[in-house]
Amino acid sequence: MKVTIVGCSGSFPGPDSPASCYLVEAEGFRMLLDFGSGSLGALQRHIGLYDVDAICLSHLHADHCLDICGYHVARTYGPAAPYPRIPVHAPADAPRRLAAAYGMPEEPGLESAFAFSALSPGRFSVGPFEITAGLVNHPVEAYGFRVTHGGVTLAYSGDTGECDELVRLAEGADLLLCEASFLEAPDLTPDLHLTGRQAAAHAAKAEVGRLVLTHLVPWNDSARVLEEAAGGGFDGPIELAAGGAEYSLA
Ligand SMILES: [Zn+2]
Ligand SMILES: [Zn+2]
Repeated sequence: MKVTIVGCSGSFPGPDSPASCYLVEAEGFRMLLDFGSGSLGALQRHIGLYDVDAICLSHLHADHCLDICGYHVARTYGPAAPYPRIPVHAPADAPRRLAAAYGMPEEPGLESAFAFSALSPGRFSVGPFEITAGLVNHPVEAYGFRVTHGGVTLAYSGDTGECDELVRLAEGADLLLCEASFLEAPDLTPDLHLTGRQAAAHAAKAEVGRLVLTHLVPWNDSARVLEEAAGGGFDGPIELAAGGAEYSLA
């Protein structure tokens, strides 16, 4: 399984990275986890514009889903259109919300390009991947994902505050892509996001192989996020996500 960080900026794009988008590949199949603001541009550095086979959206905040709208244009009106519809696994409200974001009536919405399936907690298959979706701790319906292929496992937190379900999803994963949006402070909003220290504490409980801190908010000093993560009790390697970074899991 190959994982490419297309975008890792938290909440909005930064100068060096779009918002959340991760390309996961195996057996020639290409799946996106999230498709946040600006990521459609950077995606084209890694694969062809029409090479996406499936999309999973963790939740419907703009920084995780909004580039579906631009991609609808590409797949509906591109030079060889119509392109095959691709599956999109997303919260149930996605067809309505994304049609509204595009400026389209709900019928037909974005259905010419995408076949939407409503996520619910549990297991499903996407191409060669076995995926487990679990509800995480965020103010809207939001999922984390566990993606397994060929005996290796990637876990992705989506956006979450402290959350036992994230530990379950990540249990024994080779790589945990975990959000670390907040810096430690006495008055942090609960049930919204994690600090680096909290991300590392989840990684330690789940006994993952490697922790990559992501959803890095541009106004934070990311060196401090990494420093705080070092105090979270996780013994394995910890690093900051960076746009364009690739991980080969085997
Ligand atoms: Zn976010
Ligand atoms: Zn969010």
